[in-house]
Amino acid sequence: GLALTLSACGGGGAGTGAGGDDSAPADKGDITVGVAMPTQTSERWIADGNNVKAGLEKAGYKVDLQYANDDIPTQSQQIDQMITKGDKVLIVAAIDGTALSSQLSSAASAGVKIISYDRLIRGSGDVDFYVSFDNYKVGVQQGTSLLTGLGLKNADGSEGTATGPFNVELFAGSLDDNNAQFFWDGAFDTLKPYIDSGQLVVKSGQTKIDQAAILRWQQETAQKRMEDLLTSAYNDGSKVDGVLSPYDGISRGIITALQNAGYGGSGKPMPIITGQDAEIASVKLINDGVQYSTIFKDTRKLADEAVTVATALVEGDEPEANDTETYDNGVKVVPSYLLESQIVTKDNVKSALVDTGYYTQAEVDAGQ
Ligand code: BGC
Repeated sequence: GLALTLSACGGGGAGTGAGGDDSAPADKGDITVGVAMPTQTSERWIADGNNVKAGLEKAGYKVDLQYANDDIPTQSQQIDQMITKGDKVLIVAAIDGTALSSQLSSAASAGVKIISYDRLIRGSGDVDFYVSFDNYKVGVQQGTSLLTGLGLKNADGSEGTATGPFNVELFAGSLDDNNAQFFWDGAFDTLKPYIDSGQLVVKSGQTKIDQAAILRWQQETAQKRMEDLLTSAYNDGSKVDGVLSPYDGISRGIITALQNAGYGGSGKPMPIITGQDAEIASVKLINDGVQYSTIFKDTRKLADEAVTVATALVEGDEPEANDTETYDNGVKVVPSYLLESQIVTKDNVKSALVDTGYYTQAEVDAGQ
């Protein structure tokens, strides 16, 4: 049979895959990398898309960059088309981490390599590699900054002078995004001792991730939930002192609800509110003292890492992982390269975001 004939050829045949392949290296100019991003409603994904595209082009690849408006069928279709068009590597930031298995299995049969970008793709054995940040640690940083903002902890990690009790409310991201659970776990593990000791009081009683989750990370949904919390749990004259928010867009929804209820006015200070992504509008809110913190994840570095991994996969090399235990997607533990994130408050906006060239001072001042 065919298999016998092929194996009888021994080594030296073209296309035998990784290692010892003596065929000429592929001309990168002939290789298209498909990049599937979730949405353009959030700045970070626009920056991710642009940075990944620029990095790939610099490395000599053609790039097919698509955004899916946070719509699952749209993203599935875009990935189908990438495979049909013959893209050799896919870099995918999934909307729903479990919705792509059938696409990925046809990709794998066509020899396409798959990089899960920022968000882990679940339920598929066809994911070759995962590039992201240490998502549990992002959650720890969010929880920690809520504690430092309230004065329960000092920046150096020692116990703060405040004792509470403080009323806090907790928000989580979109449950179909694998990251949401990691952020929540990191934050909740950090806050739990203070909830147990009574220094933090979740007045609504909503301490489960499915009660706190915001589908598709939407600002309007977060605003509505905050309004509901204020009506149901704070109509007795009590005040909210802190809000754990997993993402800057969600934070802005929370802030709008609070402002509409008179927070930020006299005698009713804005609660300590966390965030993520260092979106420019939120960086301005931090400088203005409205939002307390965000978590800066340098998407330039993530994009660079994705390009490095894509090149390794194209060349038949094994990409370098720095974590091979954490990200079990239900079918396999996906080898990962995880980057570090950083807490940003008013004190380090300049050193973290301006001095590193992520934003200009003018952008920070204008909030856009
Ligand atoms: C990303 C976050 C982002 C969120 C909403 C998550 O998967 O890791 O950086 O804030 O999606 O877009």
